[in-house]
Amino acid sequence: MEIKDRVLIVEDDKSIRNFIRAILEANNYDVMIASTGTEAYSIITSRCPDLVILDLGLPDMDGIRILKQVREWSGMPVIVVSARTHEKDKVEALDLGADDYITKPFGTSELLARIRTAIRHSRTSYPAPDGGLTGTFQAGGLVIDYDKHRVYVDGNDANLTQNEFKLVGLLGKYAGKVLTYDFLIKEIWGPNMENNNRILRVNMANIRRKLEKNPAQPRYIFTEVGVGYRMLDPD
Ligand code: CA
Repeated sequence: MEIKDRVLIVEDDKSIRNFIRAILEANNYDVMIASTGTEAYSIITSRCPDLVILDLGLPDMDGIRILKQVREWSGMPVIVVSARTHEKDKVEALDLGADDYITKPFGTSELLARIRTAIRHSRTSYPAPDGGLTGTFQAGGLVIDYDKHRVYVDGNDANLTQNEFKLVGLLGKYAGKVLTYDFLIKEIWGPNMENNNRILRVNMANIRRKLEKNPAQPRYIFTEVGVGYRMLDPD
């Protein structure tokens, strides 16, 4: 018998809840529903869903509070759904450990792709951040060789510098997921680096010149404006 992934939808707007539910059930997910934060937290602790889709604007509390509570004891994937267009909220949610965010209104295929990526990540065990990541990552013509510390595009060595390799390697490790500016800066330059996006932007511009045919229309590394960067899903 097939075991379905269990997804909890936390959303107080009935029409959006039903919309998401219909999409997920049609795609073979086992769906649970909560319309308040209190209800959500009780289902999360009693039934341990495989993934939570979390609306930030709930009647009894801010969805961020649930995210914080869950992250105290669990790494279960959480995708934040927000009607807010403020980048600040997305960045806060990601930095607090949300796996991804999606902004209303969103399409069916976008939602399903985000869910698949988040569940896949939760089942992949990554080595410690400083530990040697091994093997290769491939997405289209892009290959990251973690053993040789090399990145190839269409078979050619992209000649990345150390830091450029670290950045691309990190994005590849979390491919499909948005990594915030703050996260990337701390991972590459250490916790004492002042939170200054300029050095990151300069590195990313150089990386794009080396990896992308047309840096203005990237194929591999996408900009999430005001939030961070996202690597294309692997093949
Ligand atoms: Ca709401």
